[in-house]
Amino acid sequence: MSPRLRPELDGIPIYKPGRPPAVADGVTAYKLSSNENPYPPLPGVLEVAAAAAQSFNRYPDLACTALHAELADRFEVPVAHIATGTGSVGVAQQLVQSTAGAGDEVIYAWRSFEAYPIIAQISGATSIQVPLDADENHDLDAMAAAITDRTRLIFVCNPNNPTGTIVRRAELERFLDRVPSDVLVVLDEAYIEFVADADFPNGVELYRDRPNVSVLRTFSKAYGLAGLRVGFAIAHEPVAAALRKTAVPFGVSQLAQDAAVASLRAEDALLERVKALVVERARVHEGLAAQGWTLPETQANFVWLRLGERTLDFAAACERAGVTVRPFPDEGVRITIGETEANDVLLRTAEAFRKEL
Ligand SMILES: *Cc1c(COP(=O)(O)O)cnc(C)c1O
Repeated sequence: MSPRLRPELDGIPIYKPGRPPAVADGVTAYKLSSNENPYPPLPGVLEVAAAAAQSFNRYPDLACTALHAELADRFEVPVAHIATGTGSVGVAQQLVQSTAGAGDEVIYAWRSFEAYPIIAQISGATSIQVPLDADENHDLDAMAAAITDRTRLIFVCNPNNPTGTIVRRAELERFLDRVPSDVLVVLDEAYIEFVADADFPNGVELYRDRPNVSVLRTFSKAYGLAGLRVGFAIAHEPVAAALRKTAVPFGVSQLAQDAAVASLRAEDALLERVKALVVERARVHEGLAAQGWTLPETQANFVWLRLGERTLDFAAACERAGVTVRPFPDEGVRITIGETEANDVLLRTAEAFRKEL
């Protein structure tokens, strides 16, 4: 007999990481499959991380004191409203664990971030997936209509992964007004630094007078610390306190804490890089549109091509050309904005693929 495992674990989808590029002879390989930042760590961050590495025989600061203070200062929120975790995926999992168990429901758009169904199911909760509308946007009316007395948490992924689309301020406020005050709304803003739309609702402003709204942010994307695993929530007291209870003790390493603080302090360099990526994003988007592709406007560091049954063929063509993209079979392909050369290869490949259709 094998040990009895919780039946909730049956059928949990395995998180598919973006694949690293296969290296073929004479072809430069680029990874455009995980929405990572193509730039090396921000100035000064590597030095700080190296210094922190000197003492990794010691446990990190459990309370993440310096990082929490820095974040509280940056966002002008009480330090008690900050909670950090092992990436914002880790914090998202804690939020679900804190609110939803067997018989409870978690609502989110679909397709959206693939971690949501996994963490809901681990908690024993039921996922209520509300299809995106025809333009790849959150269908907030349908999401509001899906709320029942079993709903405990709603994710709004803004911008949405993998489509890059955003929910705008007025429609989000209207939606929040319709959500019962005992249901937690989590605004997952992993890509907020890349947003250029003036109508984008900054979650940190929205959460202030709404006790049932929490904001998720990460150092993995714009800040370029994906490998260090640090993300955070900004949440009102009872929720933030629940996050401190559900945290894996010492989950965020000292290296990650110190590198995150240093990254926050290197904001000028960060903004420059983000600006360059946003320019590249426009070039890729316009290039694809000029080739005849129809694709949603994106405010994140990736573009989305709804390719349907041609998804895997397109991904294979990219792979042969040296770029790895992220296919969702029979749905579409998410392509991260990377180095200029990588984006050039992608545009050439997409053009050739289109000509053969
Ligand atoms: C990448 C991503 C995250 C962040 O993941 P980390 O665990 O912080 O690396 C969170 N939400 C969405 C929608 C993402 O795409």
